[in-house]
Amino acid sequence: MLSDGCDILIVGGGPAGSSCAWGLRDSGLDVLILDQATFPRDKVCAGWITPAVAELLDLDLAEYQKSHVLQPITRFRTGIIGGAAVQTEYAQTVSYGIRRCEFDAYLLNRCGARTRLGEKFSSLERIENGWLVNGCLQAKVIIGAGGHFCPVARWLNPEKRAEHSVVLAQETEFSLTPEQAKNCCVQPERPELYFSPDLRGYGWCFLKDGFLNVGIGREGEKNLSSVRDEFVQFLDYEGRIPREILEKFKGHAYRLYGLAKRTIMDDGILLIGDAAGLASPQSGEGIRPAIESGLMAADVLQRWQKGYDKAQLQEYQQKILDRFGPWPDKPAESIVPAPLRQFLGRHLMSTHWFTRNILLGRWFLQQHLPPLVRN
Ligand SMILES: Cc1cc2nc3c(=O)[nH]c(=O)nc-3n(C[C@H](O)[C@H](O)[C@H](O)COP(=O)(O)OP(=O)(O)OC[C@H]3O[C@@H](n4cnc5c(N)ncnc54)[C@H](O)[C@@H]3O)c2cc1C
Repeated sequence: MLSDGCDILIVGGGPAGSSCAWGLRDSGLDVLILDQATFPRDKVCAGWITPAVAELLDLDLAEYQKSHVLQPITRFRTGIIGGAAVQTEYAQTVSYGIRRCEFDAYLLNRCGARTRLGEKFSSLERIENGWLVNGCLQAKVIIGAGGHFCPVARWLNPEKRAEHSVVLAQETEFSLTPEQAKNCCVQPERPELYFSPDLRGYGWCFLKDGFLNVGIGREGEKNLSSVRDEFVQFLDYEGRIPREILEKFKGHAYRLYGLAKRTIMDDGILLIGDAAGLASPQSGEGIRPAIESGLMAADVLQRWQKGYDKAQLQEYQQKILDRFGPWPDKPAESIVPAPLRQFLGRHLMSTHWFTRNILLGRWFLQQHLPPLVRN
């Protein structure tokens, strides 16, 4: 491998890593992104983003749409698996559907950083004035942006513990044939979300410009495949999608924010995105927190160009806590207590008021959350 040196080495070129690099594009710092994948690469994901994401990154959506899938969302069909569904409509676009293979490559291409792609992070050593990665890359600061299985996050959090905050999820995305499209009830502007009765997880069907994305995720679930099979049977029984397509699910995981403490920084090192465990505890939205944390890290790093010790990077941790809320002293099992979850599941999910104002407005669209102020 060729040896190289930089100011900031970002491990992972997903939305967190590319946003951090984009935030540093005019800083004068030499930023290098290392990713084991070559782009475009796929990422297991439903591919749903809120408008805040486009605003945070100054994305020109009209331009993006010319050569990429961008599906406006104006309605939702929601319900409990096995129960009746509720439809909620909006007067304007409240979210978009993207394909991660396109979106992530687009963000990485325009972020302005140097890249080393197709190169896996394999070792990390402290050296004078910084770090040595893979025995050949020197950097003053390391940013762990390698997603849920980020090796830098593991280096900072070596202890293994069973965690309720981890959601296991499976997803499949494919292009429908004209025949399959005729047999598919999912409408592009109206994703479908179906919750398990205990509200510990949900499944979705999402059609984006002829690409159908179906998946399910559940907190702390060891045996996700049987939960997935029940969901598939439900979709089949309801005749929502052509059954033969539901065979190639891919699995991944993410950590929900706010249920357990996590080390997210130390001298010359910090974590962003899924590596820091920032996904929204109610909806699992992880792209917006990944981008926000990447930009927060960029703001802190540009300001402290003279040194990056723990005391200085503490400001990044404080920004995370201010934005996403405090961590509990003891690991918690869930944000919503079990009896309340059962009640919500059984009684409220079928009401229009709860669905619009709490489930969609607050938990999924986070309409109460003010835009991130950068400084
Ligand atoms: C099934 C599923 C559905 C989801 N749906 C949504 C959704 O609809 N909307 C939403 O907002 N969020 C969703 N999420 C969450 C979202 O996908 C993540 O929060 C988001 O991808 C986090 O971005 P990131 O940049 O932190 O990590 P990632 O996107 O995972 O990127 C990490 C990068 O690091 C690289 N990497 C990893 N290890 C190494 C290594 N050893 N060496 C070099 N490179 C490495 C990887 O190749 C990858 O490119 C979903 C998650 C799952 C599992």
